[in-house]
Amino acid sequence: MTIEKNMEYVVGVDLGGTKIATALLDRNGKVLRRVRYETAPLKSAAEVIDSLVESVNEVRGDFPIVGIGVASPGAVDTERGIILNGTNLPEWVEIPLQQEMETRLGIPVKVANDANVAAWGEYYAGAGKNSKTMVYVTISTGIGSGIVLDGKLLVGSNGFAGELGHTIIGQEGPLCSCGQVGCWEAYASGTSIARLAAEAVGSKKSLMTELAAQDGTAIGAKHVFQAASLGDEVASAVVDEVTSAIALGLKNVVHTFNPDCIVIGGGVSLAGDELFSPVLKKTKKLVMEPYRETFRIAPAKLGDDVGVVGAATLCFA
Ligand SMILES: [Zn+2]
Repeated sequence: MTIEKNMEYVVGVDLGGTKIATALLDRNGKVLRRVRYETAPLKSAAEVIDSLVESVNEVRGDFPIVGIGVASPGAVDTERGIILNGTNLPEWVEIPLQQEMETRLGIPVKVANDANVAAWGEYYAGAGKNSKTMVYVTISTGIGSGIVLDGKLLVGSNGFAGELGHTIIGQEGPLCSCGQVGCWEAYASGTSIARLAAEAVGSKKSLMTELAAQDGTAIGAKHVFQAASLGDEVASAVVDEVTSAIALGLKNVVHTFNPDCIVIGGGVSLAGDELFSPVLKKTKKLVMEPYRETFRIAPAKLGDDVGVVGAATLCFA
């Protein structure tokens, strides 16, 4: 089906392991209505699709919808609208979601991987608005990413483009969840920051330990940046190591894509200036001279809405 781009309303669906967030948006990417369903993690694909369709019908009401976008975790064949392998969704293998939903709703549907969708959302209506080439990096448990190249979402020949978290920045680095050593993610994700902090503290006295105890949790990225901002030396050393690793990955990003904007989202980005200031400084130092003033690094703007906004506005891509 072809999308009528001059009409007004679209629906975005953010499909997660345990939730379905669905929203109605106008063409400026503004959320007008939303619903959220919690789904039991072990629901079958058929049951999840029923809930997807139900959520779309609930938000659309009488609005004339011109398209629906779906953000899915895992590997997605964007061209054919098939979820090849959805992480956290059992049975969710080779699901022709686009076709299923188009048949049941009679509206064109686009499906893409959630990190790519988030990149598109930040580009269309968030921190990357008005940029030309934008790279989105989300640093949380892992490192996810998506690329908008010359105004187009880069999906690759199988929909797998933009897995920057698994590009290698060290030949003998720490072991990554993907089984290789030296991935960017293994140095700089939230999980890695927590590991580095635990190693750095050892038996030393650090504010990180106290901050974590106040929260009743183990030391996480949040405590590291918080303690560093309060002058804790052990935490500052971890921040120095982590921001260097992030900058190293971004050097590769800058040299590969020549972005005018890099957007950083995810839980770790909430550290604010304590993260962004050294990362920008270090990245500028690492890149070759002609690249130095060609890019900005901005915190993501859309927060939890990034999935629904990105998915819905895919219809205007
Ligand atoms: Zn990896």
